[in-house]
Amino acid sequence: MQNLLPPQLHVFVRDWLSSNNILLKSRDGHVLIDSGYVRHAPLTLALLASERGLGHDPLAKLVNTHCHSDHMGGNAAVARAYDCPIAVPEGERPLIERWDEVALWIGYAGQSAERFTPDESLYAGERYVWGDLEWHALAAPGHDMGALVFFNAEHGILISGDALWQNGFGLVMPPQVDPAALPATRATLEMLATLDVGVVVPGHGEPFADVAGALDRAFSRVGAFEADEHRVARHALKVLLTFTLLDRQRMPLAGLPAFVEQVPIFRDFNARYFGVSPADLAERLVRELERAGAARRDRGDLVAA
Ligand SMILES: [Zn+2]
Repeated sequence: MQNLLPPQLHVFVRDWLSSNNILLKSRDGHVLIDSGYVRHAPLTLALLASERGLGHDPLAKLVNTHCHSDHMGGNAAVARAYDCPIAVPEGERPLIERWDEVALWIGYAGQSAERFTPDESLYAGERYVWGDLEWHALAAPGHDMGALVFFNAEHGILISGDALWQNGFGLVMPPQVDPAALPATRATLEMLATLDVGVVVPGHGEPFADVAGALDRAFSRVGAFEADEHRVARHALKVLLTFTLLDRQRMPLAGLPAFVEQVPIFRDFNARYFGVSPADLAERLVRELERAGAARRDRGDLVAA
């Protein structure tokens, strides 16, 4: 898929714990979009320093599509290594400046990130030139209410963050937690459908060209969520548990009830939506992860599949 992209745009495809790192090279200065998860920061730095990355060149700027831990967890490490400014979407900046562990889904969701200081804001509607290409920043609220996507009309490239993946989009807060999130998710997909996109560079997974197919799948997921808000809550907890499991690799099954009792987002969603014991919630989530092929039980532990 890299052959659909201009040569100065390189995508380091990562995994579900770390977002993709998108490098835009130019004689005017190289720009990196998203830095991955904090635990993977050494790998992010190694990729950046590789031949396909920067080699020995400096980095002019680090940009975030949005400020969740899998996209900005390595910001501090990258800024330290390259002494470069960090630009975040305008709506994320106050959350980062006060390091809001709830709004950023860090402590609230049992995740971590190294604190950093943003230097610049990015604004929806503005155009930025990175990698000798003009990028139109567009508001893409939903998964993250302050998220931006970046669209290059000349080549039809959309850098979508977690607003659109080949199969779905980033987890969405259920209506009782944020009534605006699901309607915003639909509105963002409708906005993306109006763009003439030839290739999507998502926050996770390989770049892809079947944009219509991805939008169809995303709209049908939104429809299913709109029809059943419990499903939104269940999906979010499944995704968050999978994320923690990827971070820790294995979690003792016996400790899961305490985990869902202690991590605030699990406790909150259980109180609002499920009303079951922590042991019940843990068992339900484990079964769903097994069914989805995301995890398996192994000698008393839950392990990432
Ligand atoms: Zn992400």
